[in-house]
Amino acid sequence: MSLDRYAVVGNPIGHSLSPRIHALFAEQTGQHMVYEARLGRLDHFTKDVRAWFREGLRGLNVTVPFKEEAWRLVDQHSRRAERAGAVNTIWAEADGLLTGDNTDGAGFLRDLTQRLGFDPTGRAILILGAGGATRGLLEPLLGAAPARLVIANRTPEKARGLQQDFADLAGGARLEASGLEEIPAGPYDLLINATAAGLGSDGLALPRGLLHAQGIAYDLVYGPAARVFLEWAEAQGVGTVTDGLGMLVEQAAEAFAIWRGVRPDTAPVLAAIRATTGGV
Ligand code: NAP
Repeated sequence: MSLDRYAVVGNPIGHSLSPRIHALFAEQTGQHMVYEARLGRLDHFTKDVRAWFREGLRGLNVTVPFKEEAWRLVDQHSRRAERAGAVNTIWAEADGLLTGDNTDGAGFLRDLTQRLGFDPTGRAILILGAGGATRGLLEPLLGAAPARLVIANRTPEKARGLQQDFADLAGGARLEASGLEEIPAGPYDLLINATAAGLGSDGLALPRGLLHAQGIAYDLVYGPAARVFLEWAEAQGVGTVTDGLGMLVEQAAEAFAIWRGVRPDTAPVLAAIRATTGGV
């Protein structure tokens, strides 16, 4: 019997933890499948992905820098991918059409609420960054009815663009946008670093007093790259700091559940991956 085949595509891709995460999910749930990392060719992405599915690939995860291109390549989008403007999970329907989904936001919210026990309802949230990752987080976060959500970005126009694009989902939340130099005063209950920059010499310079003492500082980046931001947050006396490894495992679990119809238990998988990557 040939095994169902899945993959993650990115460029670079050698660092990807996804093959290990999915192998652990498959082992835990008794699914017969293989999951491998594939290096995406920058000029041949669409052609290659279509060929892989024609050759029998069952599902594909997409990472940097192809998430927007993947959005354009698929035949149809899930509602949340439509909103996010980026696709990280693809599968072929029975008629051969490719569906694109985005599991990043759901993975983030699950990690935040289940592992960290944080309920965004009625809280003040500050997101640094206005790229694809922030776009993916906005729908689930606004859906959880925070009191206030501020998007602060190096290029303020991009933050304002997101503010406009998501205004219809704000409900009772105060949705604001700013540059990094004029972040509206806190304190915030949740600070999310969704930029591709750490703190430090040429990274972010943030004012003190942004966070509540019981607040959470969450860096979407994981491993050593998150260290400077998380050390800064710890020095502010913040209650909980975490990197993005939990989100990575949860967005993978979401994709796995879509593909295989079974949801893996993420806690032991996160612990196993954490044991080899370090971080918090
Ligand atoms: P992106 O679309 O390229 O956006 C990058 C963002 O970072 C932009 O807001 C950009 O600001 C900002 N930025 C870059 N360099 C900066 C600097 N030196 N100072 C201040 N701001 C800077 O990237 P993305 O897809 O949103 O991803 C953001 C981060 O989240 C990446 O590190 C990615 O690895 C991580 N991520 C993690 C997970 C997970 O599962 N844990 C999932 C998705 C993403 P401008 O608009 O001004 O350029």
